[in-house]
Amino acid sequence: MNEIIVPAKRQLILALSKGRIFEDTLPLLEAAGITVTENPETSRKLILDTSDPDVRVIIVRASDVPTYVQYGAADFGVAGKDVLLEHGGEGLYQPIDLKIAACRMSVAVHAGFDYETAVRQGARLRVATKFVQTAREHFAAKGVHVDLIKLYGSMELAPLVGLSDAIVDVVSTGSTLRANNLVEVEKIMDISSRLVVNQAALKLKRERLQPILAAFERASRIAK
Ligand code: AMP
Repeated sequence: MNEIIVPAKRQLILALSKGRIFEDTLPLLEAAGITVTENPETSRKLILDTSDPDVRVIIVRASDVPTYVQYGAADFGVAGKDVLLEHGGEGLYQPIDLKIAACRMSVAVHAGFDYETAVRQGARLRVATKFVQTAREHFAAKGVHVDLIKLYGSMELAPLVGLSDAIVDVVSTGSTLRANNLVEVEKIMDISSRLVVNQAALKLKRERLQPILAAFERASRIAK
């Protein structure tokens, strides 16, 4: 019989995604006196133990973090503003901008495409993106007509093979765009990662959660 793990009142589950969010959250956990004892890059385990027997970390896709927290399968998590805008934030309390995994959401086009003229002339643009809500709102606010094409990754490819005129994607150093002969033509917004907390857990597990949230807040303020 499969055993379903129901966390006791003292136990906490933190949802993180691999990569930058995991790495940038480790110092915040350390500030709360918690060390993750396994490395998700080398381990295939999806539930990681920590130095605190009451705290475990689950590794999920970045875009799934808000969903795990919303339904209470994780008590809290760390998710980018890009991901939270697409999710909508339902059932989530978002107390702290941790200022980690900073990047920006931008519009990019092939180096040979005259974006300004296309927009000025009222052309209907084809835009490929994973971030359809954000893209829809951005272009609606500008009064630009767009056909949005939903992709799940490698957005940079779309303008190179004629799938779209433009992409909306997150950009950090810009080297991925440059490597693919794309240029950033418009910044939509700055992005950083936020702590998200399940609203019921915040009430029922406040005693256990509060010191961790306070340590995260202090550590992220110092890091700024
Ligand atoms: P870069 O080449 O440094 O501009 O990084 C751009 C690539 O890394 C894009 O494909 C993004 O999807 C990804 N990326 C960079 N920063 C972040 C971030 N903070 N969160 C999610 N994805 C990111």
